[in-house]
Formats: sequence, structure tokens, C-alpha cells
Amino acid sequence: MAEAADAVIIGAGIHGSSLAFHLSQRGLKPVVLERRFVAAGATGRSSGLVRMHYDLEPESALAWASFRYFSRWEEIVGGECGFHRTGFLQIAAPSAEGALRANVAMHQRLGIPSLIVTADDVRRLAPSFVTEDFSVAAYEPESGYADPTASASSLLEAARRQGTRLVQDAPVTAIRVRGAKVEGVDTPGGSFDAPIVVNAAGAWAAEVGRMAGVELPVTTWRHDTAFFVRPPDLGPSHPTVIDFINSMYFRPETGRLTLVGLEDNNPLGLSPEGDGEHALAGFVERAVERICLRIPAMERGALHSAHGGYDGITPDQRAILDQAGPEGFFVACGFSGTGFKIGPAVGACMAERILDGRAVTVDITPFRLSRFSEGKPLTGEHAYDSIWR
Ligand SMILES: Cc1cc2nc3c(=O)[nH]c(=O)nc-3n(C[C@H](O)[C@H](O)[C@H](O)COP(=O)(O)OP(=O)(O)OC[C@H]3O[C@@H](n4cnc5c(N)ncnc54)[C@H](O)[C@@H]3O)c2cc1C
Repeated sequence: MAEAADAVIIGAGIHGSSLAFHLSQRGLKPVVLERRFVAAGATGRSSGLVRMHYDLEPESALAWASFRYFSRWEEIVGGECGFHRTGFLQIAAPSAEGALRANVAMHQRLGIPSLIVTADDVRRLAPSFVTEDFSVAAYEPESGYADPTASASSLLEAARRQGTRLVQDAPVTAIRVRGAKVEGVDTPGGSFDAPIVVNAAGAWAAEVGRMAGVELPVTTWRHDTAFFVRPPDLGPSHPTVIDFINSMYFRPETGRLTLVGLEDNNPLGLSPEGDGEHALAGFVERAVERICLRIPAMERGALHSAHGGYDGITPDQRAILDQAGPEGFFVACGFSGTGFKIGPAVGACMAERILDGRAVTVDITPFRLSRFSEGKPLTGEHAYDSIWR
């Protein structure tokens, strides 16, 4: 016999966890079904950057609404999210200075602490950085990084205290639809009946969508990261940085480490079951070259470790947050390699969308599924190049 639940959430990454937290805060008793364990997907591999700098206003708004959680996690959620305030620098080529200035003005309109700083200011903030190749950068003094696994786990812990049930090792194999409505889901260990089923399955979202008869324009995106030990004279820390000039981002990690990710050569369409324990061949060498371009002293650094992960990516590299297909079926997917930092607010918005028909924390209608068939992919008003190439 099927167990009854108020809602079934498929996937226990940051988005399934955040939605469970927000739905159960509203009095529902959802079940979260996870094929492996909490944060087994992209969330557990995420670099955890927490910044508000986007070229698309609704994304900055989601990141800013989420920042409230990261900065007051214990009070709002309980437990830990591992937030470290390092300051965040967005470095861009002089040719992008106009867009950078316009985007910072947009962030300031939203109330985000963000400002334009000069290359001299950056040298003072980070004396080891090369600063000759840009004249200005965007700086967010309050931003930094958090621990994605701790964030998802503590959201789920809080959700469980509020009545959520978490079932791990429970891959959803079928979504049952009766008439035009979802009825429930099946797993090898048992079935669950619920009037609401949410696809928060990350890199597996297209496959889960098909179970409900919904084609989602989401493919897989593989992304590797490497951790390097900094030479002792580089100091205890440095800001978190997205460096468009060198197509990379980097941030400090405890233990005198620097994490590096690259914006190019992130393969699309690979199976998300691939080896995430090791980086792909050639990645570490490219990451070393790239970080040394911005921090030459890293030539004296050492490799600590490297690994990879898989997220779902859409054609415009922005999420899909919507109802889709049968009544009661919702999707929160396609986070395109930047979804961790918006997890708290997306969960709040999806709970509002599901229960009230409309999100008020942030208007998420720009993230509707139909934008692709309407030929209206999301682009910023002062767009940069796509982040992933
Ligand atoms: C290496 C890497 C670095 C990143 N760095 C950053 C960053 O610095 N900042 C940032 O904001 N974002 C970053 N991202 C992106 C961010 O991590 C993701 O967008 C976010 O974690 C996606 O969360 P999710 O809950 O949608 O998916 P996931 O965390 O992938 O969770 C989906 C879950 O669904 C489960 N699942 C799948 N199919 C089924 C099924 N049939 N039944 C049951 N369960 C199922 C999976 O096992 C998985 O646990 C990074 C991503 C990667 C891969």
C-alpha cells in the first residue's frame, strides 16, 4: 500500500532541502525521496560561492534574499551553513567596464552592498594579485562562501523537526499520473501518494521530468575543481573572486587552500553517473596555469586534491522554476552551475508558488519553462558573455 504525504520532493540537494524546509514551515508534511544520500549530487561538490553579482536582476534578487539566510543561518534555520565572509571581487576586462558599472548600479538599487573599486584598491585588498589587466572591479564586502553540504543538511534537519520525512536510498522510478493530475511516485522500496510532486533532481531532472511526461530543456554539465595549498608567504586568506579575464573563479578554503574552478571546457551531456572522485585529464594543469596568471606566487603552491560534479544546465544557463505538465507537478531545476547560493530563497519562492499560486519573496515568473518555447531566453540588461563556455 502506498504511504500518503502532503508532497513528494524528488532529490535532497540544496533545492529539495530548502523546499522541504519552507513547505514544512507552512504546516505541510512532505516526504523527500533521495536516490543516494543528502547532497549526493551537485550540492556535495559545489564550490559554495555566495555572491550577488549577476547580470540578471531576478538572479541577483534571489541571491540577495538568500544572503539573509546565510548571514543569520542559526537564527533562521538552525545548525550551520559554514558561511565565511571573505569579500567578493568580480574582475572583468576593460571592455566590460560599462556592463560592470551598470550591473553594480542594479545591485545597489536592490540594496546589495556592492561597489566599484579601482585596481589600486584591489592591490590593497589582495597584494598577491596581478592587477595590471583591469582598471576597475566590482566588490561585495559582505560576500564569501558557505558549506553546501552543511547547508542542505541543516535545512533538512530543520525540515524534519517540522514534520518532513527523509527517505534515502530511494530512487524514484515512476511518477503516477491519473487524469491530468499527479497521484504519487514509486520507488523500489515502496510507493507514495501525494497531490504535489516536485522535481528537484539536479543533473537527473530531465529524466525525472520524462517520468511525468514533461520534456525539460536540461542537459548535464560537468565541472571540475582543484584545491591548491598556498605558499606560506601568501597570507592566511584572500577574497573570493570571479575572474572573467582568465575564465576562472577561486576562493580561499580553510587549511591554507585555494579552490579553483574554470569557466571553459565544462563538458555537456555526460552521464551524471560518471566518476566525480577524480578531475578529468588535463584539468589540474589548466587550473594551475590559470591561477598563476592572477596570483603568480601560486607557482610555489602544491596540489591538494581535485574532483568533479554534475549539475543540470539549460540553454540560457538559468533555472526553471515552474509548474509543468500534469496538475501538481512542479520543477525546480536547471540551476546551471550557479544554484547553491540561491537555494534558500528558491525554496521559499517555490513553496509560495505551490501553496499560494505566486511567489512573493522574489517574482520567479521570469524563470518559467515556457520562455524557451516562446523564444525568450533570459539575458541580462547589461549582459556579460555566458559564464560557462
Ligand atoms: C563542482 C561544482 C561547483 C559549483 N559551485 C557553485 C558555487 O560556487 N556557487 C553556486 O551557487 N553554485 C555552484 N554550483 C552549482 C550548485 O552546486 C547547483 O546548482 C546546486 O547544488 C543544485 O542543487 P540541486 O538540489 O538542484 O541538485 P543536486 O544537489 O544535484 O541534488 C539533486 C539530488 O537529486 C537526487 N536524485 C536524482 N534523481 C533522483 C531520483 N530519480 N530519485 C530520487 N533522487 C534523485 C540526486 O541523487 C541528488 O542528490 C556548483 C556545481 C558544481 C557541480
